[in-house]
Amino acid sequence: MGTVQRKLFGTNGIRGVPGEDLGLDFITEMSQSIATFFSEMEGPILIGHDVRNSSPAIARAVLSGTLASGKNAREGGLAPTPAHQFAVRTLGYAGGIIVTASHNPPKYNGLKVVGRDGVEISRESEAEIESIYFGRSFKRAEWNSLGKSGKETRVVENYIKGIMSQVSVSKIRQRKFTVVLDVGNGAQAVAAPYLCEALGCRVISINGQADGNFPGRGPEPTPPLLGDLSEAVKSYSADFGVAYDGDGDRSLFCDENGKIYWGDRTGCFLVDRLLRRHEGGPVITTVSTSQLVDWVAKKHGAKVIWTTVGSVDVSRAMITNSAPLGLEENGGFFYGPHIPVRDGAMTTALVLDSLAADRDEKSLSDAIADLPNFFQRKGKFECPNEKKKEVMLKVEEEARGAKIDKTDGLKIWTDDESWILVRPSGTEPLIRIYAESSDETKLGAMYERYEGILRSALHST
Ligand code: MG
Repeated sequence: MGTVQRKLFGTNGIRGVPGEDLGLDFITEMSQSIATFFSEMEGPILIGHDVRNSSPAIARAVLSGTLASGKNAREGGLAPTPAHQFAVRTLGYAGGIIVTASHNPPKYNGLKVVGRDGVEISRESEAEIESIYFGRSFKRAEWNSLGKSGKETRVVENYIKGIMSQVSVSKIRQRKFTVVLDVGNGAQAVAAPYLCEALGCRVISINGQADGNFPGRGPEPTPPLLGDLSEAVKSYSADFGVAYDGDGDRSLFCDENGKIYWGDRTGCFLVDRLLRRHEGGPVITTVSTSQLVDWVAKKHGAKVIWTTVGSVDVSRAMITNSAPLGLEENGGFFYGPHIPVRDGAMTTALVLDSLAADRDEKSLSDAIADLPNFFQRKGKFECPNEKKKEVMLKVEEEARGAKIDKTDGLKIWTDDESWILVRPSGTEPLIRIYAESSDETKLGAMYERYEGILRSALHST
């Protein structure tokens, strides 16, 4: 993992700005290369997209490239990324190409490639596609052997049915929950509200129209941006609220009092409930996740496996370890029995299911309050890519003597319940800091110490 050199695929597929570094010629030839990679696999390729303004044009270039290689394709249209992934897995596709830039600003777009199991292809497979592309060894079909195209109209319905088959529908319906959904003008606009209605919820939508300009609160849900969600939950006396990212694979929750949580806290609530039915786990998570997951797993005698930061790394580790559960601090939750990829609507159904299963009808805030509290702080610092290595060496030197985990960046433990992760971003000129402690004063001191170290390293390199 992480040792294969790729130039075009980043941590989460190919990303760029259409008309700049993501031209239609590039998209067509790249799709021809991807289709060549899938050429021996049975079935057509599913092509789906998110709500971005450039997505329909790019999806058609992807279609052209796929057909030009001689591979058949179906157009899945607009749907959340996990809905396309689930369709690839369950409807007999060789693989899928999803046009999306997830939570990036509106001008970006990208391609996500998934295998026949619906999961993002491995780093090695990405490198293989790049070598087909750069070697120009992609298939070029003759006029009479071009691929055939058609529409795939079942994506959303198939997704909602699949999710409902994983939860106790009648128990959820009995509770008649009220939920506020903030789809952030993103792709869950076409799925999550219908799922919740089918589960007997009263649904209140905010930023509910699919719109590639993301005029509401933007495509990236972070707690400081979710004030409207919090207000709506309180004013409608809802049971909880949920906000999705642009392509609908991540979800952040808001309790009935309007309090917004990071994904690892609600994720750990779900892990706590789901380990009752998936004894032993294991649970897969990234090194940036709260140590709360260790606490919860220990309570159930389950194992936690820590990975590098990236949803693909979690998905792949889930497959390798036959793990039922995975989570990320940014709101990614993975339910293996459905599909081992992060999925905002599946996560919403699991929260409903967990609350409905409680005989004493606990509220979300009470259910989460049963878990011990850890204090967290996160930050990001601009750092040119070429300086990252040197800055990290300086941080490591300053941390000498402490227990350091180098799975991804430097995770420095200053005592048994306090850690700080200093990690260069794989996609942006940034260094990110995540810190956590059971003691708020210790957290502040640790954060400020490393912030100082980082700033002085940035200045002196
Ligand atoms: Mg996303």
